[in-house]
Parts: sequence; C-alpha cells; structure tokens
Amino acid sequence: MKLKNVPNRDNNWLLSRLDFIWTKYFSDVPQTNKVFIKFGRDAKYRLGSIKLDKRTKASFITITSMFKNLRVPAEVVDHTIGHELVHYAHGFSSTNPRLHKYPHAGGVVEKEMKERGMKVFHEAYKAWIKLYRKQIMYSR
Ligand SMILES: [Zn+2]
Repeated sequence: MKLKNVPNRDNNWLLSRLDFIWTKYFSDVPQTNKVFIKFGRDAKYRLGSIKLDKRTKASFITITSMFKNLRVPAEVVDHTIGHELVHYAHGFSSTNPRLHKYPHAGGVVEKEMKERGMKVFHEAYKAWIKLYRKQIMYSR
C-alpha cells in the first residue's frame, strides 16, 4: 500500500530537493554549468558524490539508492545534497573557481553548511549515522 502525501523517492524527487536546497541555502552561488542529480547504486558507505564531465562540462551529483528508503529521514538526503553543493560552490567538480586545495580541508564542508543555516540537516545526519553505523556493525 502506498502512503498518501509521501512522494516516491525517484530522480524527480531528488531534483526537487536540489532545487529547494539551492534556492534556499545557495542562492548566492551561480550555476555556471549544467547540473544533474540521480540515484546511483545502493552504496553503503559512499552516500553521495559530485563529478565534472570534462567533455560536456556538466556536473553530476549521485546519491546512494539506499536513500530511496523512506525510513531514511529526508533531512539526511538533504544533508548529502547540501554537502555536494558545498563542493560545487568551492569549485570542486564544478566550473566555479576553486577556493581550497582539497575538498574537505579542515572540515570546510560542515563549517560552511552550518554558516549557511543547514545545522538542522547536520543534526539529523549525526543522529541517523550513529544508528546506521551500529546497524552495519552488527549485520556483518
Ligand atoms: Zn565531500
């Protein structure tokens, strides 16, 4: 049975989350190329990634298919999208100027997410990842 008012988590849903997050938290970040988002394979550890196609100059955000599961809070998915958008804003896997030497130098990603008002996503992520790690540990 399908729950009412709960959207299916497909690639269109991901695109709507990306739109929402970009508009609300990254409105100062110019979109300088085409950006695509889709669910990838059911990765257990790599929750998201962003890559630049050198030929087409388009950026591709990939989110683990594990996040299609409605038991994963939507804020956790938003957190992952926000994380990849920080990389985009910093010029990693995007056509924007590169602001750091390394994408995760000195915790810049979480710091910037907090500064941009995404603390609530971070809290949700921290709570979820704690349980998730335990679950993975005991299922091995
Ligand atoms: Zn990252």
